[in-house]
Amino acid sequence: MALYEIVFIAVAVLILGGLPIPRTGASVDAGKLGKREILARVRLFIDKPLPSGVSYDEANLLGKQSIPILEDIIFRSRFERSHSRVIAALGAIGDARALPSLESYVDLTKGEISLARFDAILVAQSAIGLLAAHDDTALNYLLRRTDVEFWEKQSWTFKGAGDGKSVVMVRAVMNGLGLSGREEARKRLEELSQKKELIECAKDNITLNLRIALNAAGEALLSGGEVKVACSDGTTSGSEGSSEGANPTGSQLVVHPVTISRHVDTMIDEARVRGSFIAASNLLKDENFKGDVACNVELRLNGRVEDFGAQKDADNVITCPSQLRRVLCKSGTRVKLVTSLVGTNLCETTGYGKFAGCAEEPGLNIIMGDPMSGGVLAHEFGHNKGLPHRDDSERRAIMNSTASGTNGVDADECEAFRKGGIRP
Ligand SMILES: [Zn+2]
Repeated sequence: MALYEIVFIAVAVLILGGLPIPRTGASVDAGKLGKREILARVRLFIDKPLPSGVSYDEANLLGKQSIPILEDIIFRSRFERSHSRVIAALGAIGDARALPSLESYVDLTKGEISLARFDAILVAQSAIGLLAAHDDTALNYLLRRTDVEFWEKQSWTFKGAGDGKSVVMVRAVMNGLGLSGREEARKRLEELSQKKELIECAKDNITLNLRIALNAAGEALLSGGEVKVACSDGTTSGSEGSSEGANPTGSQLVVHPVTISRHVDTMIDEARVRGSFIAASNLLKDENFKGDVACNVELRLNGRVEDFGAQKDADNVITCPSQLRRVLCKSGTRVKLVTSLVGTNLCETTGYGKFAGCAEEPGLNIIMGDPMSGGVLAHEFGHNKGLPHRDDSERRAIMNSTASGTNGVDADECEAFRKGGIRP
């Protein structure tokens, strides 16, 4: 595996993480830290193999004194894969002095950009929304960007954004308006909810905005996402459930045929999908350390990679919980691939930022963003088999909620992974 792949996956495999929502107005100073100490903390923060963005506590630990260093990082392309989490941290620190840097980051973007840059631009709208809670300039910045036409005039392009790019960007801005908790923002969201392509996420963000406005401490947000990630009838994926009943015991190989489709605007090709299936199966089969069971299970691509969605429907980027649930629960295939999942309180979490994937637990539906990794596929499939997160101290479980590159499966988990598999 090439080095860049390792880094890429490490940054991308945010399983069900995201950035916990800061309590409104809570901008914490790290105190009288020396420059060297602050630098060390920032370095730890961006070098960490954990992909899950940053917890609010981590952002607090960095403190206001780290803002100039964080700002410096987002203008260095060699750190591009860390940009979205650094930007999320700048929002969480909540100091409006970071606004000019965030504005420049978005507004100076030109040409064809990478997925990492695209994700960072999406997260920046939310980060600016957190600054807008106490800052009129930040609020006005967002209010000026609620027109599809504004984004159509921008000089950057991203193939994975597809034809719905401008709608995606307005939806991302709406997330910032939601996070601001400001009344002016709520009024704009209500206007935007008149538009067919925006109504779904406008409504989610009006709810978010009200919760933040009514609870200065942000407790409502920290108490849990309100959108249950379950598809109403629980059996929306056709025939895959009918293979249940195979003997899960023993160590003979069992195979799960998995159907998959990609949004027409994503750039994920079939070779990459096949690669992630092989990687997922190897993670399950390998026995790498004491306590890791060699689980003889294979996830196998069933049929071709199908297409779903329509160009310009902007469902290739998930930006709010209702949209996530709708796309996750689409009938047809078990797995739906999209370009990105960036939003607030997605997948029953209380956080904001980029998410790698989301799954019904238990259930028959999975949604994953690009880059699609084997680790995320195995993790989400585990949720489908009813497995909860296992955040043990070693953080090596495949069901760990935030760690990446992990492969630990214990005996009980292996039994769940084997359930319903067929003999090849
Ligand atoms: Zn998970």
